[in-house]
Amino acid sequence: MNIRIGNGYDIHRLVADRALILGGIKISHELGLLGHSDADVLTHAIMDAMLGALSLGDIGHYFPPTDEKWAGADSLMLLGQVDQLIQEKGWRIGNIDSVLVAERPKLKPHISAMRERLAEVLSIKPDQVGIKATTNEKLGPVGREEGIAAHAVVLLVAAD
Ligand code: MG
Repeated sequence: MNIRIGNGYDIHRLVADRALILGGIKISHELGLLGHSDADVLTHAIMDAMLGALSLGDIGHYFPPTDEKWAGADSLMLLGQVDQLIQEKGWRIGNIDSVLVAERPKLKPHISAMRERLAEVLSIKPDQVGIKATTNEKLGPVGREEGIAAHAVVLLVAAD
């Protein structure tokens, strides 16, 4: 089989006095995401999808939140490491599709910058990185602006 699919999901809590970083892009907002690393929820969902495609577990296994080494870590650096791992296993990314779920702020103006940044780190083209943004229609914790969630699917193709 020369293709594999993976999916990833993540959610982080919104709090004061934290930066909001999504897809490697710092976004101006009065709240930011809480986490051991920089809490880039979109990049985390994408990494889990990449690992999931090869049944390699999840990012908590490779970058445990109990390890001080990853405190405040730049998630794009972690993404580069996951990419290296899948390449070593003989795979490359066909495409990524993802959804960010946030009530606020408006994410649409930042999507093209996120796609370019993620593509740059993964050495692929921005048109291989799909990112959509939606609200949760004020429903549930995301709707109450208690957090931001992300879903991602990744198709891996055997490298030749
Ligand atoms: Mg996370």
